[in-house]
Amino acid sequence: MLAARMYGINDLRVEQVPTPIPGPGEALLQVKAAAICGTDVRMLTAGAAGVDAKHPIILGHEFAGVIASVGPGVTAAAPGDRVAVAPNMGCGHCDLCVSGNGQLCADYRALGVNLDGGFAEYVLIPAQAVSGGNITPLGTGSFVDGALNEPFSCALNGSERCAIRPGDFVLIVGAGAIGLMHAKLARLQGASRVVLSDLSADRQANARKVDASFTTVGALDAQKVADLTEGHLFDVVITACPAPAAQQASFSQAAVNGRVCFFGGLPKGREEVMLNTNIIHYKQLIVTGTTRASLTQYRKTLRFICEKALSMEDLVTSRAPLTDIAELFELAKAAKGLKNVVEFA
Ligand SMILES: [Zn+2]
Ligand SMILES: [Zn+2]
Repeated sequence: MLAARMYGINDLRVEQVPTPIPGPGEALLQVKAAAICGTDVRMLTAGAAGVDAKHPIILGHEFAGVIASVGPGVTAAAPGDRVAVAPNMGCGHCDLCVSGNGQLCADYRALGVNLDGGFAEYVLIPAQAVSGGNITPLGTGSFVDGALNEPFSCALNGSERCAIRPGDFVLIVGAGAIGLMHAKLARLQGASRVVLSDLSADRQANARKVDASFTTVGALDAQKVADLTEGHLFDVVITACPAPAAQQASFSQAAVNGRVCFFGGLPKGREEVMLNTNIIHYKQLIVTGTTRASLTQYRKTLRFICEKALSMEDLVTSRAPLTDIAELFELAKAAKGLKNVVEFA
């Protein structure tokens, strides 16, 4: 099969490798769509633990396709099934795994992160993922929507913690693909005004194309925040960008009893941020952060997609075959457009 393997920093090779054969409990997925994520870019440009010239890895943790074959004893999937596959696996027996949060397990593994992933014609789904419920039917959803369900489920994780209610004013800082997923979720939950703030005029224009009801702005100051919310300030602020300044500004942008989610992690070396915690105190803010998504959240967002409540297709700005994956990575590195997707015939 054809696969894009990472051999080290900025060393990605599209080459022929043996197609895996599923053993007992395992399944083989024929990939139909796989999306590039900031994590893939970070791994390729900064390096990844355990990956070197002797130990290459196939990246890609956002993917969907068709079950090609299954090993002995598999009942959770059958050849021909159209499915999306959640990439994360925990040990299965620690408290976090038992509580349904295997994605937070200390012994967590993930397809495309430390096991071969979706930038290949086929992916071997380990027995633990097959029996653990990682394979989820896609219904009539598109393969692209199935691939983008992974980051979408992570956005739901952040959104759920913000408890968006009908009528809320919601601010999302960063109008990249993740920011727009948050904006779509806020709209679905009845937010009265969804504001996306981004310094890039291109991203603002993209956001309005995705949904004309989104309000877009550049840099925000106190006056603009007041104007955008009729003096009320924002019930919910979600930082969907790796910017310390966005975190610092968020408390002042939030209304009394507001909820703030630091969704985007910060780059190494910039994690220590000076924050005025008295604002949390006097405004009774709830401040949270989230990472990854549970299988429950993965299934829930896939249901939105299957029921056509939401589509992610409009977040895809570039599509290419696997042979051209390097060009897609260049676009992702330059933060041009939104989502870059590898599509397979
Ligand atoms: Zn991702
Ligand atoms: Zn565990």
